Amino acid sequence: MPRPIVASISISALQHNLSVARAHAPKARAWAVVKANGYGHGLERVMRGFAAADGLALIEPDYAVRLRELGWSKPILLLEGFFEADDLPVLARHDIQFAVHCEEQIAWLEAFATDATDAALHVHLKMNSGMNRLGFKPDAYRAAYERVRRIASVRSITMMTHFANADDAGNPLLPLAEQVRRFEAGTQGLEGARSLCNSAGDLLHAELAHDWVRPGVMLYGGTPGGGTAADFGLRAAMTLESRIIGVQDVPAGEAIGYGSRFVADKPMKVGVVACGYADGYPRHAPNGTPVLVDGVKTGTVGRVSMDMLAVDLTDVPGAAVGSHVELWGGKLPIDEVAFAAGTIGYELMCALAPRVAVREVE
Ligand SMILES: *Cc1c(COP(=O)(O)O)cnc(C)c1O
Repeated sequence: MPRPIVASISISALQHNLSVARAHAPKARAWAVVKANGYGHGLERVMRGFAAADGLALIEPDYAVRLRELGWSKPILLLEGFFEADDLPVLARHDIQFAVHCEEQIAWLEAFATDATDAALHVHLKMNSGMNRLGFKPDAYRAAYERVRRIASVRSITMMTHFANADDAGNPLLPLAEQVRRFEAGTQGLEGARSLCNSAGDLLHAELAHDWVRPGVMLYGGTPGGGTAADFGLRAAMTLESRIIGVQDVPAGEAIGYGSRFVADKPMKVGVVACGYADGYPRHAPNGTPVLVDGVKTGTVGRVSMDMLAVDLTDVPGAAVGSHVELWGGKLPIDEVAFAAGTIGYELMCALAPRVAVREVE
C-alpha cells in the first residue's frame, strides 16, 4: 500500500511549453535544458516530452551518455563542458557537444586531439560577460577562440554566454544591455553561431535569441521571473498531490509540531498531510505557505516535518482523512509556493525526492 503522495508529470505540458519557447524565438533553434534529472521530472520522461527540441542540454556527463543509450540521436550539449581529460574520448564516441570555459579545458582538448585525429568535436566557447562564474573574459575571448579553432578535430565553435539579469534587465549592478555589449565586443568578427538566452531571455528579450536558445525552467511550467507562468501561457508539468492522513482538533493556546512554532489562537481543526521535507517540500516554509485542500486554498501551520506537514482546515470544514491535497502544480503555481517559502520554483521541482511515486499523465 503506497503512501498517498504522488507527483503527476504531464507530457503534453512539456510539449506545450516547448512550443511556447519556440514561438518566442521562431528563428532560433532550441536546446531543451534537462539538467538535474530534467529539473526533477525524470530524464527519460523529459526526453520524450522534448522530442521536438533541436537538442538536449545538461550538466552531467553520465546523464548525457544515458540519453544516447535511451535513443536520443539529435545533438546533446554539456553546459559546463567536461571535468577532466578522461571525459573526452567518451564524449567524442557519443557525439556529445560541450562548453569550453577555461584554459585547462583547452589544453586537455589539444592533447586529446593530437591522438584522436578522427574525432569530430563541436565546442561551445563560453564568455564571462559579467556573471563571473564560468568563461573567458571579453578581452581574452578572441585568443581562446583562435586557439580552439586551430584544433583540427574541432568542427564548429558556437559563441555562448549566460545572463545574470535577463528577468530584471535594468539591474544597476549588471544591466542586461551591458552583458550584451561585452559579448558583442568580445565576439566581433568571429565566425559561428551565437547562444545567449535562458528562459528569461527567450520570454522577455526575443531580439537576443540569435541562433540558439537554451530554455530550462519555462519548459516545466515555472517562471524565470519577470511575470507569472500564467502570464507567459505556461502549463505546470509537475503536480504534487497527497492526502490528509489525520485530523486534530487543537484547543486555543496549544501548539502544533516540532518546536511548537505555531500556537492556535482559537480552537482549530488541523489536517495532517502525508508530505514532508523528505519528499522535497521545503522545511523552511513558514506558517501560511499556500496549500489546496479539496480545491480550497489554505495554509501550512507549524514546522514541516520529515514525512508530514499540517494545514489549517478552518475554511475547509468538510475536509477529513482522505481529503485531496495539492502542494503545487496545475491549480497552485509552484512559484507561488516557492515565493512564500523564500525560494524559487526551480529549487522545489529539482528537489522532488526519489521516494515520491511518479505518475505520468497526458
Ligand atoms: C540552466 C541553464 C540554462 C537554463 O536556464 P533557465 O533559467 O532554467 O531557463 C541555460 N543556460 C545555461 C548555461 C544553464 O546552465
